[in-house]
Amino acid sequence: MSSASNTHHGSGTVNGGISFWYADEGLPTAREPLTSDATADVCIVGGGYTGLWTAYYLKKAAPFLRVTVLEQKFCGYGASGRNGGWLYNGIAGRDRYAKLHGHEAAVRLQRAMNDTVEEVIRAAAEESIDADIHHGGVLEVAYTPAQLARLKAFHEAELAYGEKDRTLHGARETAERVRVAGAVGSTWTPHGARLHPVKLVQGLAATVEALGVTIHESTPVTEIKPKHAITPYGTVRAPYVLRCTEGFTASLKGQRRTWLPMNSSMIATDPLTDEQWESIGWEGRETLGDMAHAYMYAQRTADHRIALGGRGVPYRYGSKTDNDGRTQPATIDALRAILVRFFPQLAGVGIAHAWSGVLGVPRDWCATVTLDRATGLGWAGGYVGSGVATTNLAARTLRDLVQQDSGQAGPTDLTTLPWVDHKVRRWEPEPFRWLGVHAMYATYNAADHRELTTHTANSSRLAQWADKVAGRH
Ligand SMILES: Cc1cc2nc3c(=O)[nH]c(=O)nc-3n(C[C@H](O)[C@H](O)[C@H](O)COP(=O)(O)OP(=O)(O)OC[C@H]3O[C@@H](n4cnc5c(N)ncnc54)[C@H](O)[C@@H]3O)c2cc1C
Repeated sequence: MSSASNTHHGSGTVNGGISFWYADEGLPTAREPLTSDATADVCIVGGGYTGLWTAYYLKKAAPFLRVTVLEQKFCGYGASGRNGGWLYNGIAGRDRYAKLHGHEAAVRLQRAMNDTVEEVIRAAAEESIDADIHHGGVLEVAYTPAQLARLKAFHEAELAYGEKDRTLHGARETAERVRVAGAVGSTWTPHGARLHPVKLVQGLAATVEALGVTIHESTPVTEIKPKHAITPYGTVRAPYVLRCTEGFTASLKGQRRTWLPMNSSMIATDPLTDEQWESIGWEGRETLGDMAHAYMYAQRTADHRIALGGRGVPYRYGSKTDNDGRTQPATIDALRAILVRFFPQLAGVGIAHAWSGVLGVPRDWCATVTLDRATGLGWAGGYVGSGVATTNLAARTLRDLVQQDSGQAGPTDLTTLPWVDHKVRRWEPEPFRWLGVHAMYATYNAADHRELTTHTANSSRLAQWADKVAGRH
């Protein structure tokens, strides 16, 4: 691999090159591809967090299992090597699961997510994976009256899902943590940590390999059939084939309309000076977000930068996925504007890197994990923007489902969570898919602009309408 395809935006901004997280160590050399037909007990398609955590927990539970991972490029090529490094307890679809299965079921799901943050930190420590983890919690700020109203409602909702340790802050207390310009309030939860995404995914790949898992890289799976994962180099036959391909799922035969690939984009600044950090605060290194409809997420990196993300070019016609993370100049400018909106003193700071990655979005915006007993086919994903922790819960659940199906264990606390075996309809065919997603994003932008300029305390009706059209509520 080389980063020769990088282009530059502005003065010295690397654009693409998969992500900033690879900038220090360079892109990895791919492991050996599959060279002929093979067999396994479990075949995992996709070498991101979902696939690798699943291989990890299966091998830990049953060391005798022959587990093979097939990865089209290299482990961490997808969102797991490009994300914002928010390890936090959010899960896509919780409110919908509450409607479908009752409040108590959703509380159980939320508790499992809270525990998952701890589990990732524990497992990384146990396996000596140094992923720059800092357990500083999650801070979400409001800087308009409408955002403050949403923040308070969000805070109350999280308490109702059993989060006893969440706290609400006014303007002064918020500024004591992070001095975000114009912030009027914030909510903080301890259930979150900052991490370096690539150090985690590469550490995991090395860990599972050491446990005896076979990883073939540069090996694209073109089709998954019961007990078969088909590649140009041969077919892996296994009683269980698990699809862990998230935003790339549409490129598999028969899966075009399953999950919509949506882009998210990020920038990383040059390292800030001590004076700049003093003016900002942020000593707790909380992951930082806001309450805008087109929300932002940011972290203070271990090497003294700010990495900040938000929406990029949302979705490309025909479910095409970007391949090297290259990002449109307009998106880089928009993210830079958000950075300066938060911290005006950073108006002149250099942007070292900009990149994009692809998320998987189901038609009803609910993450799922499933093992089909009849065929042995399993899958997990549709995490939207909350997969760094959720992938770990999905992986432990897939382990339990495989163990249950193969008669090695019974149902567990995880196999009975409400997101297991959830069915959702497919996305509309083109051009309706493209038109719908673009209309939704344009509407969120308009709603944010309206709230900023009118100072209304009511959430824009436009955004509520877009939520309905998108199937989010
Ligand atoms: C820019 C960005 C920022 C994000 N920030 C956050 C965040 O801060 N916090 C958070 O919780 N979540 C965040 N997310 C989401 C999170 O990163 C993902 O939900 C999570 O990494 C998904 O992991 P995964 O293993 O399911 O998918 P991926 O990491 O995408 O892995 C899928 C893998 O499968 C491989 N693959 C795909 N198709 C095939 C095929 N046919 N054959 C073989 N291999 C295949 C791909 O190459 C890839 O390596 C972010 C995502 C992006 C893009």
